[in-house]
Formats: sequence, C-alpha cells, structure tokens
Amino acid sequence: MIKISNTLTRKKETFVPLINGHVSMYVCGPTVYDFFHIGNARTFITFDMVRKYLEFSGYKVTYVMNITDVDDKIIERANKEGISTKEVAEKYTEEFFRDVEALKIKKATFYPKATEHIEEMLELVQALEQKGIAYNSDGDVFFDISKDKNYGKLSGKKLENLQASERSEQGDKKNNFDFALWKSAKEGEPFWESPWGNGRPGWHLECSVMSSKYLGETFDIHGGGIDLTFPHHENEIAQSECSTGKPFVKYWMHAEFLNINDEKMSKSLGNFFTAREVLKKYPAEAIRMLFLQKHYKSPINYEVVFIEEAKNSVEKITNAYRRGLERAGVLKGGEFAYRNRIEDFKIGMDDDFNTAIGISIVFNSAKEINLLLEKDFLSEEDLDELNGELRFLEAADSILGILLPKSETGDKFNALMSVVLKLRSSLRDKKDWESSDLLRKELENIGIRINDTSQGTKWDLK
Ligand SMILES: [Zn+2]
Repeated sequence: MIKISNTLTRKKETFVPLINGHVSMYVCGPTVYDFFHIGNARTFITFDMVRKYLEFSGYKVTYVMNITDVDDKIIERANKEGISTKEVAEKYTEEFFRDVEALKIKKATFYPKATEHIEEMLELVQALEQKGIAYNSDGDVFFDISKDKNYGKLSGKKLENLQASERSEQGDKKNNFDFALWKSAKEGEPFWESPWGNGRPGWHLECSVMSSKYLGETFDIHGGGIDLTFPHHENEIAQSECSTGKPFVKYWMHAEFLNINDEKMSKSLGNFFTAREVLKKYPAEAIRMLFLQKHYKSPINYEVVFIEEAKNSVEKITNAYRRGLERAGVLKGGEFAYRNRIEDFKIGMDDDFNTAIGISIVFNSAKEINLLLEKDFLSEEDLDELNGELRFLEAADSILGILLPKSETGDKFNALMSVVLKLRSSLRDKKDWESSDLLRKELENIGIRINDTSQGTKWDLK
C-alpha cells in the first residue's frame, strides 16, 4: 500500500485512486520565457520519480503537465528582445523539452498549452460569473474569495486576514486576495476576444481548465513545488470546486525548496542557475542522485561539494553494476536476492516515496556486488545472488535514473585499465617489484585500487 503526505489533509494517507489500477496526475509545468532553473528541476524530477514508481507498482498513469505560453514574463521577454510572444514561447518550449530529456524525465501523456485552451477558460469564467462568484471590473474579471467559504483550506490561510479592498494594477478588487481570472488587454499585448472585451486568461485559470479537460473534474494527484501552494493551488481549488461543486483533487503533493549554498535561490543574490548550466558540468544521473537521496519533503541545499559527492556515488554504483554484469555474463535467475532487495526498496518507497531509503538499498546492493567481485571463484549460489542484485539495480534504476549510460569514455577507460594491468603483470614477471609497486601506488593516489588474486589482478574504484 502506497502512502502519500497529503498537503490538503496534512496527513499521510493510504493512496486509493478514483479508478482501480489507474492514476490521474497533474503537475504544474513551466512558464516558457527562459530556461528552467535547478529548483524547477527538483520538482520535475520528483514527480517523474513518483509517476515511475506508481507505474512500477502496476498502475496505469495519465500524467499531464501544462505549458504556460501566455504570461507577463513572456510578454516582457518578447518586448525586450523585439520578437513576438509566440516566438519566445516556442523557443523556450523547445528548450524545456531538451532539458527534460537530458534529465531522463519521462514524457508526460499530455502537455497542453494555455493558448490552445482559451475557449474552455472563457467557459469557466462565465460559469463563475453566472454563479455570482466572479465579477467584472473594467474588463478585468476577478474571483471573489469572500464567496468561497472553503477558501484557504489548502494553505491554511484565514480569510479574515486576506480581506480588505485594494486598488490593484488590473482594476478595483473587492478583497485584496481576489485574483484575476481574466485580464483586459493592455497596449501591445496578445489578446483574445471575450464577453468582457479583449484580454487574456489568468495563470491560475489555465491549470483548473486543462487538468479537468484531460483528467476529469476530480482527479487523483496534483503536484508542484511548495511555493505554488499559495496562492496558485489555493486558487485552482477555488475556481474548480466553485464551478463544479465537486472535490477537485484527492491528493496534493508538494516538493520542497532547493537552496543554493544555504540561501534561497534568487537572481539578485547571483546564486541563480539553470538546469542547462548544471547539465554542462554534471551528468543528469548526479543531479537526480543529489535530489533523490533526500525525501522530496526535505529541503535540499545545493553546493558544489554535494553535487560532486553525488557524482562520485553514481560512478561507484554504475561501476559495481557494469563490472558485475561483465562477471555474470547473461542475466538469469537470482529470484531470491532480487525479491529480498525489492521488498526492502518497496518498504521505503511505499512510505510517501521515500527515495532516501530507496537509494540506501541501492547502495547496499552495490556493496554486495563489490563483495562478490572480490571473490576469486563464484559458486552457483554466488552467481545467482549476483544476478539478483543486478536485476534489482536495473529495476531501481527504472525509477531513479541514476545509473550512468554505457559510454565510450567508460569503454575506453576499461580498455586503458587492462593495458595498465598487462604492463604491471609484465613488470612482475620480470621481478621488477619497485616499478610494479610504484604503479600500484600511483593508481591508488587517483582512487584506483589494485587487487592481486589467484585469478589475476583486479581493479576497482575506491
Ligand atoms: Zn498550476
């Protein structure tokens, strides 16, 4: 049984989907005005893992992520670069998909775009207006939060603290936290026709509309970064539940922050960087390891030493896996060891997707493989165990994505090591112990350990 920490109920609950064997899941996607930052990458990787674990557990998952392709930031960018908002959105949508693929994130079932769902958004605003929950103020349409007695239930905000009328940028609001469903068009902005004049949809509106269009009026899981809880997700609930009268989402999941060197990431602090920048220096597997070695509800601090450590970890695990494969030959059998590991892995992962435990089981498995590799001779039983461990690593990797791909450099490195070992063995044959020991020491200095066994010399990474 999978348990999920539900932000809405503030409880860890047993996951029971609306339709047996099927999961409907929505995660807030990018606003395509720039490359996405490494904090966004944490959210995307978290929910990629959640989706893959649900699939591994036998569910058929429909996964929807929206693309916000009309927004203030896109307009700003377009004006700055002297190109159209469409061009900005198209460029960064493409870049988004490139980074998603590089981060080994599985494609969503649907990536609906805001600009392709304007009709449905207008229908929702009209429905709310007819119910007297939305009001028009000079072409801007606002949601009246005082008409929604459940407003604040997700974030725990108290309505009385939110009320007070305010003159906003858009127009007159009845309460200061009333939010725009529809914004009237300003000079030079993209617009669509509406009963309230030319304008464009508000950001919160698109998630209510597109999630329900692809997943139904009530669906299972809604995810996003913790910073979206209020007002974005609160507003999604308000819009959807006030129009349908049904519960919007069963389980709300929020991934914690990523801090940079113990500080909140921000452009003004100069500690802001994109996933693309990190991917230039580190493999996707190291980034995934850095994030997934902690539970998604724990804050993570990003520092160079931590990503370096994560890179070492994925190298170690991959090394054990590759060398194990070489030794095992064809993978077969290993049921017992496989099932034991999977059971431990599931205990962790079933408990609110605790990848910290999942990854500790992966480390145990790699350690066991290394112990087996130290043996000169592998019995039937040893081979069976090795096979089970390798199969487990493959299964865990299908969810975590932390095994480095078989690379040309890796192959070259292995070939180079066999040249070095041949050279050392020829030195030993000539009884040139001094040179052979020097070689061993130099290798140790760079983290390669040499082991002489009755079956020849072996090496591994310390
Ligand atoms: Zn959203």
